[in-house]
Amino acid sequence: MIKEKLLYLQTFGCQMNVSDSEKIAGLLKDIGYRPTNDSSLADLIILNTCSVRARAEEKVYNHLVQYKGLKRKRPKILIGVGGCVAQQEGERLLLNIPHLDFVFGTHNLHLLPELVLSAEKGERQSETDFIDNDSRLDLFPVDNSTNGVSRFVTVMQGCDNFCSYCIVPYVRGREISRRSADILEEISQLAAKGVKEVTLLGQNVNSYGLKSNGELDFVTLLRQVSEIPGIERLRFTTSHPKDFSRQLIDCFGEMPKLCKHVHLPAQAGSNAVLSAMNRGYSREEYLSLIGQLKAVSPGIQITGDIIVGFPGETETDFQETLSLLEEVRYTDVFSFIYSKRPETKAAGYSDHISQKEKQMRLDRLLAMQRKITLENNRSFEGSVQEVLVEGESRRGGQIYGRISGNRIVNITANPALVGQMVKVTITRGEQNSLQGELCN
Ligand code: SAM
Ligand code: SF4
Repeated sequence: MIKEKLLYLQTFGCQMNVSDSEKIAGLLKDIGYRPTNDSSLADLIILNTCSVRARAEEKVYNHLVQYKGLKRKRPKILIGVGGCVAQQEGERLLLNIPHLDFVFGTHNLHLLPELVLSAEKGERQSETDFIDNDSRLDLFPVDNSTNGVSRFVTVMQGCDNFCSYCIVPYVRGREISRRSADILEEISQLAAKGVKEVTLLGQNVNSYGLKSNGELDFVTLLRQVSEIPGIERLRFTTSHPKDFSRQLIDCFGEMPKLCKHVHLPAQAGSNAVLSAMNRGYSREEYLSLIGQLKAVSPGIQITGDIIVGFPGETETDFQETLSLLEEVRYTDVFSFIYSKRPETKAAGYSDHISQKEKQMRLDRLLAMQRKITLENNRSFEGSVQEVLVEGESRRGGQIYGRISGNRIVNITANPALVGQMVKVTITRGEQNSLQGELCN
């Protein structure tokens, strides 16, 4: 029998990393590692990292410095780094951080058990080779967890868009679509375990299948997923405006299981900035998409990502981003200060903006969006919404779930309702969530 050891797994960044971490935990279970929430008890610490912004990368180094002391006290503890920082830095991490035992890149998750077993014998290794697309088809993370009613299912990896600010194509590699048969099989298995809602996940799901011979396109995939018995709700993220087809817009009017929410990052409101970002659409095209979505699905909730302080962004450009927020009336926006990333085209642009100005623009944008978000949340007051109950709230005595439009609702009700779809009257719209009461 294998002796059980403890794994402390720290995940940074996007849902893609969360999904990879689930796979990491599954792979390491096979060689005797069980998860712990306490790093001081761990036999193995793994940091699954993000490098999309410099700040995320710095966090990883700060954690590694902290673990130096732990390693001094317990020299047998193993420390590994995976994910996007690992892909970017590779071997350099082992050279610069003597207490680090191994490094694995974004295409090398499957090598992890071997790396850990070698590290247990004292070998320090780095594996960051990209794998060609055909071999990668068998290496998609599969969701093996047993709990929850709502799960993410990876349908594609990598990105070919090369937005001028973004490191993802360099650290995640070329875009590849997973086989539709594998996706449908995984979702059928999740449904059989009681999962009712799935979110199809990729950097740019709208281009699913377009580069694979004989593969379904995204709309056909969505339709087939919605026919799987037991799946009551369907979502997808992230969408790229340049690939959002008319057929996909129509799905929101035709598919009752498709939730009334789209995450559609604009990144900026000015055509000059959008062009410098290499986004492939104009402000007018973006707004036309939003208009069509709202026409097909009245009340649809739109969220987005915005970058402020892109090189060369003038005050007038920035005001166009503010006016975009007003025109779209986003439910919520993830907003980021532009961060210069190695290898990207924008890193070489000359007209970078001061940190102080970038921060001021972010504060202005946040203030405007907070107001829109609150007004939008209040607009739900008195309405009746279907809520899929996901768990017990941190606020005692309450359960929480999401409406179709992806807003969180807290409800004072019996925890036995977790996992069920219930009808709820919204009693109050707050800044970050809604309050509701069960309908009789
Ligand atoms: N593929 C998705 C898309 O195209 O919208 C998102 C991928 S990225 C991990 C998530 C968000 O991070 C982006 O939408 C963008 O707003 C932000 N981001 C990416 N690179 C950035 C950078 N260099 N500085 C600031 N924000 C950045
Ligand atoms: Fe990055 Fe653009 Fe690809 Fe999104 S679409 S991952 S922002 S390069």
